[in-house]
Amino acid sequence: MHSFVKLLSVILAIVTLSDASPLICNYDNPFLGRVQYANSNYANSLKTTVSSFLAKNDTLNAARTRTVQGISTFLWIDSFNAIAGFEKHIDEAVKKQKSSWNEKLIFPFVIYNLPDRDCSAKASAGELELANHGELKYRQFVDRITSIVAARSRADQHIGFAVVIEPDSLANSVTNTGSVPKCATASDAYIRGVAYVVEKLGRMKNVALYIDVGHSNWLGWPGNLEPTAKVMSQVVAIANHNQTSSRNPAKVRGFVTNVSNYNGYNPTTPDIIYGAGPDNPNWSELRFAKALAPYLEAEGLPAHFIIDQGRSGQQNIRQSGGFWCNIDDAGFGTRPTTETGECIIDALVWVKPGGESDGTSDAAAARFDENCQSSDAKVPAPEAGTWFNGYVEMLVKNANPPLKPTYK
Ligand code: BGC
Repeated sequence: MHSFVKLLSVILAIVTLSDASPLICNYDNPFLGRVQYANSNYANSLKTTVSSFLAKNDTLNAARTRTVQGISTFLWIDSFNAIAGFEKHIDEAVKKQKSSWNEKLIFPFVIYNLPDRDCSAKASAGELELANHGELKYRQFVDRITSIVAARSRADQHIGFAVVIEPDSLANSVTNTGSVPKCATASDAYIRGVAYVVEKLGRMKNVALYIDVGHSNWLGWPGNLEPTAKVMSQVVAIANHNQTSSRNPAKVRGFVTNVSNYNGYNPTTPDIIYGAGPDNPNWSELRFAKALAPYLEAEGLPAHFIIDQGRSGQQNIRQSGGFWCNIDDAGFGTRPTTETGECIIDALVWVKPGGESDGTSDAAAARFDENCQSSDAKVPAPEAGTWFNGYVEMLVKNANPPLKPTYK
């Protein structure tokens, strides 16, 4: 073949190839080429839902629920007690991988136990209090998690970890220290606590840390972007004891948005929560991530994101973006995937295990938050974290894209 023709056909082949294959970027994306562990606790809870559908002769939705049993959600380490379950699940994941999978594994979990947690709401108040040695206890909590991760990483070369750090905490540090007294007192401890997680876990090669940055309807407004990046930068600096250079700095992989919320990744129109014309140009999670990225980069931070879509299947279901508790008419969203269409988005994930309540609707309960009785909340609802079967039945029915049924 004439060499020019040869060259032309090579170029054409490359062009055709790149047209046909999905967008490939971020070869260092921690989720790429790894199976996400689907934890058995969640699958077990879903058995109740399979049974409740079957009791109503709804075999289609029972079969759809079986599909959800195989989908990866994040394991929440929300108390000292939850640490035992964490170890058990890693062992289970490693065993499964060795017996039946050839691929590498990524184990997704959430660290959620800061002292004076959930400062602007009440539903998820935690076990540690600043006034009762909360910071010291939190460091002990993080130390225990770190030693488990280190030991398991030494034992299994194929396991990776994706860690979501403390949903809502630093977003409260950005916007709520002036208006909510509990946030004003807790904010510095949140910053130090998250920095401690980064310091401890941020030097391990197989661990990808994602710090929570709220969501588009919270920190998306242009005035919040730079302050958000500054808080994140402060955290990473503290993790490195404010030294700018070190041979092995404590690093984060990126940031996570929309944890336990309902916003869409990339919808074509703004949600009705914005009314007639959005005063927030960053009205989707993708718009928010793209807008925040340059501010993070200006601080020397990596602009990589993961985005929770676990309960984002249905849009336009809320009257106010401030409503967050057990929103009625929600559906499971896009399945966890690395095919995000954008190089800055590592993965769409399910951080919140859909079906676990956001908070009780019982006004007499100690952790009652009015949001759990809002006009958009599904009631009656049990305590945060506990199984809300009517809610998960709804998520299954409203899933978008619809869930494929699994018949045994
Ligand atoms: C609860 C946690 C629970 C998490 C995931 C939070 O709202 O406070 O206890 O683990 O949701 O469902």
